[in-house]
Amino acid sequence: MIKKKMRAAVFEGNGVLNIKEVDTPVVEKGTDVLVKVEMCSICGTDVHIMAVPPGYIAEPGTILGHELVGKVVAVGSEVKSLRVGDRVVTNPNDYCGVCAYCQKNLPNLCENIIPMGIGANGGFAEYVKVSEKVAHKISHDVPPEIAAFAEPLACAVHASSRIPVNPADSVLVFGAGPIGLLFVQLMKARGANPIIVSEPTPLRREFALKCGADYVIDPLHEDLPAFVAAKTRIGVDFAIDVVGSQIWEGVKAVRKGGSVLLFGFNAKAKPVVEQHQITNREVSVIGTWLANDAFPKAVKILENGILDLRFLITHTLPLEKTKEAIEILRKGEGVKIMIDLSL
Ligand SMILES: [Zn+2]
Ligand SMILES: [Zn+2]
Repeated sequence: MIKKKMRAAVFEGNGVLNIKEVDTPVVEKGTDVLVKVEMCSICGTDVHIMAVPPGYIAEPGTILGHELVGKVVAVGSEVKSLRVGDRVVTNPNDYCGVCAYCQKNLPNLCENIIPMGIGANGGFAEYVKVSEKVAHKISHDVPPEIAAFAEPLACAVHASSRIPVNPADSVLVFGAGPIGLLFVQLMKARGANPIIVSEPTPLRREFALKCGADYVIDPLHEDLPAFVAAKTRIGVDFAIDVVGSQIWEGVKAVRKGGSVLLFGFNAKAKPVVEQHQITNREVSVIGTWLANDAFPKAVKILENGILDLRFLITHTLPLEKTKEAIEILRKGEGVKIMIDLSL
């Protein structure tokens, strides 16, 4: 029985988020899938959207939330891969499938992306409507709070596929928020050593160590280049910027021929880079965006328990506390925060 009205956290612009009764979405198109949300986690993007002025622009009137797991409760007439009762995680970046990028099998770079929880209604709600091609089946055996990691994990897995980290390669990670911590675990799983994490927040440095970092450093009070030189002499093989402004620190930290992977996104940051250091040290600087085809891999990692994710969850709160949850994350007092729609 699908209710006609549902509770949802609606972004109203300028840092305002209200819990409202709104119409429950209904299946209209043949490819529509209606999902009853079990769990939806707070993302750094939500924190940026809610900042004043915003660090990431979302459409006022939109229900936020894009990291969700839920159960299929209705499907359109053309849906073939899913049926009512299936459990799904969703790629929030619905792609058109026909533009020049989609035809190059780069749906993460689609020219017509519709981003859930930013420009289309998202998962801080009892129900959300998605299209079949972005809904990925996941086992009922995966606890909801673990399944909700699928989206951030898929982004980190796609990003990781862009750097060939091998056993005993050294890696420096800038930023130990939820994504940085996923990178630490993924790099650990690849056998990287040492893994160095640069993070100003003490709580997050502690989590980085629990995730398998060999060393953590506070970049505000310690000398990162000297530390990297002491541990690796020539510099790290790979640096991963999860902050969105650390390109120059990354270029300086890698050895000749090393690579800097840019994951974090900060539209306001305009870092100054000495380009010649990239040129004559043969440094590779690589961007990465969204998840591309990594969702099935993320689902497999979650179903098989390859990473240890449960301890990253510091808070589980009801929908009514979504704004407070975003605030906790903004203050760096939480790591992964789940909004539990059953509460
Ligand atoms: Zn996210
Ligand atoms: Zn497209």
